[in-house]
Amino acid sequence: MPELPEVETTRRGLVPHLVGRRIRGVVVRNPNLRWPVPRDLGRRLEGEEVLGIRRRGKYLLIDCRRGHVLVHLGMSGRLSLVPDDSPPRLHDHVDVQLEGNKTLRLTDPRRFGAVLWLPEPAEKHALLSGLGIEPFDPEFDGATLRRLARGRRVAVKQFLMNGRIVTGVGNIYASEALFRARIHPLRSVGRISPAAWQRLASAVVETLEHALSAGGSTLRDFAASDGKPGRYQKRFLAYGREGKPCPRCRTPIRALRQGQRSTFYCPGCQR
Ligand SMILES: [Zn+2]
Repeated sequence: MPELPEVETTRRGLVPHLVGRRIRGVVVRNPNLRWPVPRDLGRRLEGEEVLGIRRRGKYLLIDCRRGHVLVHLGMSGRLSLVPDDSPPRLHDHVDVQLEGNKTLRLTDPRRFGAVLWLPEPAEKHALLSGLGIEPFDPEFDGATLRRLARGRRVAVKQFLMNGRIVTGVGNIYASEALFRARIHPLRSVGRISPAAWQRLASAVVETLEHALSAGGSTLRDFAASDGKPGRYQKRFLAYGREGKPCPRCRTPIRALRQGQRSTFYCPGCQR
């Protein structure tokens, strides 16, 4: 599932190819995504210029003068830039045709993704208005997390993954950040010290930045417009490493089920 780093890498890869270009048209081959693709999307977008591309949580916002195209990659979606005459394959559901023989193509086998039109102001839209703080927001620090956790009793991993509190930290990166911060994923947020909150805030940012830097080659793939999804370097410290030695203390990594998701942690150094 695309998580924040993949979405941010996609955004960075698209910016040089989309911003400043006009949209010639839209082809919707299958509107039945997570929510129906609006029937009038083509009419709204034709002739519009792409002013910018932003990310909010795992949503991409393609800014135009009269509104915004919101794209979510769902479970299996990806965006690629292909030449106009590139024949569509089975799961290529939406094309946005740009000037200069380029088409932005959404491929999504499981169709949990979304393409919507958001009139101004986009931030007030129901999908965006309730989103929590961005990990790359300058205010994202230990004190802010501690304040957001006040009065709650949930396990810290559930807290981190709650998109209404912190946006875009999915299962993998929550696991990895807790490992880096040496905090047990089941620990209640009411029992975390100010110092540990600060470690956690830093660890979330480090984990995401690490993933972004690993996506550097993805950016080049993207710029090559070959439509390949990009080869993410999946080098995790704890995630997916059950039974393997902890890179810090050599204790075997353990796995547990938490809210129907797998959590990986080191019983030796995550207390
Ligand atoms: Zn360890």
